[in-house]
Amino acid sequence: MRKILYFSENYDIVFQGDLKGSKRYLEDSEKYVCRFCGSTHKEATFTKDAHAISESIGNKSLLSYSECDECNKIFGNGIEDHLGKFLLPLKNASAIKGKNSKPTYTSPSNESRIDFKDGTMNIHNLENNPFVEIDNLNKTMIINYVTTPHIPAAVFKAFVKFFLSVIKEDDFRNKFENVTK
Ligand SMILES: [Zn+2]
Repeated sequence: MRKILYFSENYDIVFQGDLKGSKRYLEDSEKYVCRFCGSTHKEATFTKDAHAISESIGNKSLLSYSECDECNKIFGNGIEDHLGKFLLPLKNASAIKGKNSKPTYTSPSNESRIDFKDGTMNIHNLENNPFVEIDNLNKTMIINYVTTPHIPAAVFKAFVKFFLSVIKEDDFRNKFENVTK
């Protein structure tokens, strides 16, 4: 709660949008000029759905005209993959639906798993395996997730990429265009 207060007191919201519902494009962006490599429709293709914020963290609807297919592919295989690994425990515990389904978490030992079937979370754990700690007396359960190895700098870059995708065209051109160089 204190962390939420800190952000609301010290930061401005630069973008707010609904990430569910039908597909729609950010309107305030230059159509078919890639913000990340500078290519236009003459040098690159823009045929794939470029999610302004990664689909793997629940964005089903918000698309950008300003990301070429090549950059989309590079982000998907690179920084967004690291973000996915970093957030997997959180996505699993929160049941956030990714590209196709709610993400399964498998423990590093492969002995425990949390998956989803018909909307229900299923926890598979051997008795006495410390992955799950059940306190019957206090009616609590602790799940000891381990984060998949990832590159923290790539996770940071993924958040920067989302920011650069959603800010207004004027702000991008006047203040942040150099960030992508
Ligand atoms: Zn590009």
